[in-house]
Amino acid sequence: MTAVEKARGLEAEGVVFRYEVDESDKVLALAGADLEISQGEFVVVLGPNGSGKSTLAKHFNALLLPDEGDVWVFGMNTKDPELTWEIRRSAGMVFQNPDNQLVATVVEEDVAFGPENLGVEPGDIRTLVAGALKSVGMEEFHRHSPHHLSGGQKQRVAIAGILAMKPKCIILDEPTAMLDPSGREEVMKTIKRLNEEMGITVIHITHFMDEALYADRVIVMDKGEIVMAGTPKEVFGQWKRVSQVGLEVPPVGQLSRRLWSSGVNIDPGILTVDELVDELCRLKSGI
Ligand code: ADP
Ligand code: MG
Repeated sequence: MTAVEKARGLEAEGVVFRYEVDESDKVLALAGADLEISQGEFVVVLGPNGSGKSTLAKHFNALLLPDEGDVWVFGMNTKDPELTWEIRRSAGMVFQNPDNQLVATVVEEDVAFGPENLGVEPGDIRTLVAGALKSVGMEEFHRHSPHHLSGGQKQRVAIAGILAMKPKCIILDEPTAMLDPSGREEVMKTIKRLNEEMGITVIHITHFMDEALYADRVIVMDKGEIVMAGTPKEVFGQWKRVSQVGLEVPPVGQLSRRLWSSGVNIDPGILTVDELVDELCRLKSGI
């Protein structure tokens, strides 16, 4: 990354963070985390429970500040209290439980919450809310009550609430953990589209390995450090290291490797159904 790109993206530099349980008991949650994310990247963060994923995410939103090291969000140091609100507006967070995030009784009022807090003019708020709901495909539901929506729809409304503040980055901390498979797919496709069409930087934390396939880059955390990073193929290609950290290669990846190890002449690094089908058709036609 060049110096200019670095200044425009997000960066954690030697971040150490401890939770103070009581005076004599501190938990080391980040043990010197280094990470650079360019503007427009789609990064998926994986790692076992307690590896520091949520703690790192909260640093990029200035909800937590490093004990040691620095975090930069689009050139702004999170330790500068005057920049806190601009950092939170630029890098909005979506959490696991949609019911904790939707506070209003009508969808459009919920989405308006962020811009209202920022002091945006009412006329502009209406435009922002309509645009944000359209971006997540929820415009038809603007007068609905959030309580009657499906889990996937609720998370899309939560994402619209962030979008209404015109962020450069969205940080999602296990937003699909409480959803059924179709809700998960809805949310993943929505954030992929926002990344591709609007250039929004995405940091997506998940424990579903197949969601890593949406990423430009996968980061694996363990014990408060970043232990692996690369494209999905590069990371899951190192399947022994992946399993040492306690994670699994996505199902299609496991199948490809088993076919390969039982003598089928295919690329053992294949991770998606489409690629596997292409490869098997190639084999069948003898190309
Ligand atoms: P992850 O999101 O990867 O599951 P976390 O960032 O939540 O990991 O946690 C990292 C470490 O910090 C774990 O050891 C966890 O128990 C500890 N931790 C997280 N939140 C708190 C808290 N509020 N108080 C004390 N310890 C915490
Ligand atoms: Mg977590």
